[in-house]
Amino acid sequence: MLMHANTRMNLTAIRDETEAWDKHIFDALTLVPVMAELEADASVIDIGSGGGLPGIPLSIVMPKIWFTLVDATKKKIEYLDQVIDAIGLKNVRAINARAEQLGIDRGERTPDGRQGAHREHYDVAIARGVGQIAMLSELTVPLVKIGGLVLMTKGQRAEEELATAKAALHMLHTNHAGTIETPTGRIVVLEKQRKTPRDYPRRDGEPKRSPLGVKKEAKK
Ligand code: SAH
Repeated sequence: MLMHANTRMNLTAIRDETEAWDKHIFDALTLVPVMAELEADASVIDIGSGGGLPGIPLSIVMPKIWFTLVDATKKKIEYLDQVIDAIGLKNVRAINARAEQLGIDRGERTPDGRQGAHREHYDVAIARGVGQIAMLSELTVPLVKIGGLVLMTKGQRAEEELATAKAALHMLHTNHAGTIETPTGRIVVLEKQRKTPRDYPRRDGEPKRSPLGVKKEAKK
């Protein structure tokens, strides 16, 4: 479905199916050992899921975990809804939204007394190919519970990006818990220590335009 849909919209630069099995499906599944200790009914949010990576392969092999796939592009969410329907996945939902909007705490109270349905709601946030760590932490950290994890699928530049993100992680009350080498890249593991300050995430596009704690000269 991914290869087929990719002929009418831009989901991946990889057009060869064999290569896609390795670089997309197998790569997504390298997160399984990191998520192996999650309990049944745990919730995971995939930010900037695009063509469903890593969220869809993970949801297939972890049927007892609840997955929320988020993307800012409506067409991609329509595609993901078709995939969820075609495979018959019952543990996945796809939401068309910007991560900033889901993470913002406007102090609203829902009838059951809870603030914002997504902020500090998830056990784990995952993301691949969405942006540098300093920017991506602001999009993901607000969404996970205290003690929750952010798992970023990264490549060779992981250490460099981490160094640049040092101040951002501090501002977001989050630790770098470790980096795991996998056959296809690196998984950067962050652990949220305390509640995210209400100022984060900032408004739409701001985390990318001006990543937290990154000096203008150092920014690309
Ligand atoms: N995770 C997929 C897609 C990476 S492309 C993969 O690894 O193949 C990055 C995706 O993130 C795009 O689909 C884009 O629409 C989405 N995106 C970028 N910024 C976003 C934001 N602030 N909120 C939600 N989605 C975002």
